[in-house]
Amino acid sequence: MAMQSAMESNSGVHERAVPHTDLGVIPALVQDLRETFESGRARSHEWRREQLAGIERLLSECERELVDALRTDLGKPEMEAFSAEVAFTAGEARYVARRLAGWMRPRRVPTPIISQPGRSYLYKEPLGVVLVIAPWNYPVQLSLGPLLGAVAAGNTVLVKPSEVAPTVSRVLAARIPQYLDPRAVKVVEGGVAETTALLEQRFDHVFYTGNGAVGRIVMAAAAKHLTPVTLELGGKSPCFVDSSADLAVAARRIAWGKFFNAGQTCVAPDYILAHESIHDELLQRLRGVVRDFYGADPQQSPDFARIVNVKHHRRLMKLMASGEVVVGGEADEVARYIAPTVLKNVAPESPVMQEEIFGPILPVLKTSGVDDAIRFVNERDKPLALYVYTTRDEVAERVIERTSSGGVTVNHAWLHLGVPDLPFGGVGESGMGAYHGRSSFEVFTHTKAVLRKPNAMDPPILYPPYTEQKQKWVRRIL
Ligand code: NAD
Repeated sequence: MAMQSAMESNSGVHERAVPHTDLGVIPALVQDLRETFESGRARSHEWRREQLAGIERLLSECERELVDALRTDLGKPEMEAFSAEVAFTAGEARYVARRLAGWMRPRRVPTPIISQPGRSYLYKEPLGVVLVIAPWNYPVQLSLGPLLGAVAAGNTVLVKPSEVAPTVSRVLAARIPQYLDPRAVKVVEGGVAETTALLEQRFDHVFYTGNGAVGRIVMAAAAKHLTPVTLELGGKSPCFVDSSADLAVAARRIAWGKFFNAGQTCVAPDYILAHESIHDELLQRLRGVVRDFYGADPQQSPDFARIVNVKHHRRLMKLMASGEVVVGGEADEVARYIAPTVLKNVAPESPVMQEEIFGPILPVLKTSGVDDAIRFVNERDKPLALYVYTTRDEVAERVIERTSSGGVTVNHAWLHLGVPDLPFGGVGESGMGAYHGRSSFEVFTHTKAVLRKPNAMDPPILYPPYTEQKQKWVRRIL
């Protein structure tokens, strides 16, 4: 079913072929998923556990293949591929599997006098057929992570991996049917045409990860069917470094969070707001850290990823001119390489400050203090993540209280999303809805309200004729 088309960029650089599924089969695939859902087989705890175990097995038995595919598509270092894609997702599957029975159990809630006698409870039911649309930057984690939540909640699922990471897309399309129930989980490969065709179908939930422009397209298409959406989007995640920060630690952690996957991380620190008193020292330290991490020539380092394609490479190179290069700046389009780069003297109006960078370029701006930094953040779209480096609790608390973002890590980069009990998602322009841990189960679950009444005892108080006596009682009870 999957076909390939060679793609030659206009630079003459040979880009990887894009796999895609025949558009004509899409309605039948969705219909099949609906029939499977209606058959009820995805509802049992046992089936759900089998699917979660299947995801874990896929990740462990195909680890080499996945890591190699990630290397091909993104030059992803093995450590980053293993930790952030394979191990992270397997850990999620295990975490959810262990707790699933408890989450599925109906939960009793009190019944007020007016509805007595009776039993009230929350009943967790699956939504139906779910569409997962994944992006290219963590193509394994962001396809299988939402998928595992959807099957844990008892849904059937159609996964659309990103065509921008075609090697991983191909591996997922081949392996998912081998490890998961093929009547309940299907993969469609391709890009805009295939996703557009998918969005014409009726789903019960659409879970989209990617940029906000496409997020709007997805939401508009889903609205035609009144289908709820989760939008995991991006944006510019700011990083405030206070005058009190431990600069050695801050520089190391910021550089790690930024240059991991060559900056192609939705929660990467996008830019730094450095207190003017420590601005110069922070730049010095960042220079040292980049050298410690990647050596004198980061292009030779096996621990630094590549830009996903030429289009993004060119986009990023245009942003370089927004400031003065303090660290890095070198690039090689054919190798899709951009050095870990730090910029200073960056104007807030410059191009690098207008869009999410999504690459290894780190602008550092001066700020006069925490209130100035808060103002700067609040004048812009609500970010997916926000970082504050400080040794003063009141500074951390002030930032947490006075700004809005999907999440916050204090004194590190994006580790909050590895805490399974913390929901991961955006707010405002950075998205809607959240997942991870229990939230991955809840986002694909409808909590149905159930009241069960016995037939015996049927106090006439609610029924006409509404006598004065009844009204008196109702006033007393309600
Ligand atoms: P992408 O280009 O892979 O697009 C995402 C998905 O949308 C793909 O499956 C693609 O086929 C589909 N798509 C693209 N154009 C479409 C169209 N016109 N109609 C329908 N579907 C279409 O990935 P991207 O958007 O470049 O991803 C990067 C963005 O995603 C960044 O903004 C990043 O911050 C964000 N992101 C967010 C998270 C998160 O968890 N919040 C995670 C990763 C990436």
